[in-house]
Amino acid sequence: MSKVALITNISGQDGSYLAELLLKKGYTVHGIIQQGPFLNAEYFSDNLYVNNPDFRIHHYNQSEISNPGRLLALIRPDEIYNLGIPSGTTTHSTLASVGISVLRMLEAIRSQGLEHKTRYYQASSSTLCGLVDGMSVNEMVTFSVPSADAVAQISDFWTVVNYRETFGMYACNGILFNHESPRRSESFVTRKITRGLANITQGLEKCLYLGNLNALRDWGHARDYVKMQWLMLQQDKPEDFVIATGVQFTVRQFVTFAALELGIKLRFVGKGIEEKGVIAAIISPVAAALKVGDVIVTVDPRYIRPAEVSKVSANPSKARRQLGWAPETSLQDLVIEMVLADLATAKEAARLKLYG
Ligand code: GDP
Repeated sequence: MSKVALITNISGQDGSYLAELLLKKGYTVHGIIQQGPFLNAEYFSDNLYVNNPDFRIHHYNQSEISNPGRLLALIRPDEIYNLGIPSGTTTHSTLASVGISVLRMLEAIRSQGLEHKTRYYQASSSTLCGLVDGMSVNEMVTFSVPSADAVAQISDFWTVVNYRETFGMYACNGILFNHESPRRSESFVTRKITRGLANITQGLEKCLYLGNLNALRDWGHARDYVKMQWLMLQQDKPEDFVIATGVQFTVRQFVTFAALELGIKLRFVGKGIEEKGVIAAIISPVAAALKVGDVIVTVDPRYIRPAEVSKVSANPSKARRQLGWAPETSLQDLVIEMVLADLATAKEAARLKLYG
């Protein structure tokens, strides 16, 4: 009998990679998406999904999300991956869509008598750690509450710990640091950079406008991180883990690497909000339409955050030590993958513009 997994928010970046991983492992995968547009065709065009009886999608409305018991009774999952964390929402809506649903999901597992069968994974993020600027975060971190997202995530985190300790459930939290991919939303800086620079090489945009170029982040590949999510549910006892690479880069370095992959050597001039990225050399035909001296990166104060976590440093050694997990994709390889995907899209858009 194959294992059955339920993934919430399956159409997002992590949900889609996790679905791919579990289907390859022979699982039957059920995914919840909120009623609305169907899965992003780009992610799910693979034959893993098309006419695959092991892959089922459930369109849920708000009232069903607050009462997942019926679905659990129907599919009796061995594993639940609760990935439903929308970012940038207000406290009220974040708690309504995330915090309460964690509690409801754990209660639904109990009320269906599945508490000793179903293993539960809760996706938390470095948001949980709030403004611990510059501190290296491990599983023992003390949380602070600087944002609406953090309030919701802290509530989720302790709810999971509480159900594990009180009811002996296999429930754990993954504290994930930034993880990116070509499937990342453009509201995150990495994708904004790769898409913006790819568009610039194809004449679709003139300049990329960014905020704090000095911000340091620990960026990994989402594909590596979902492996860790799965591993967390395969242990003898449930525990919480930090998932990160342990290595940090600045936003400026990410821009520099992405530009290089597109054949552009950048030079940064000026300081603070006057800083600009200027083309110092063109080293590949991809960027042949651009000129040395062109300004293609500008700091725009609109993107500088009033309450910024400028340094996020993680300590993922527990994952390495206990689960033997280490990220497989380097930052350079992540940048290449993202740039190539965005370049292909930009070339197609430029072609359509030319002939359309
Ligand atoms: P976060 O770590 O979850 O906030 O992920 P983001 O990708 O949104 O931001 C990462 C870092 O990039 C933060 O320190 C931002 O201040 C910084 N950053 C600089 N310019 C931008 C920008 O234009 N957009 C975004 N989203 N972040 C930017």
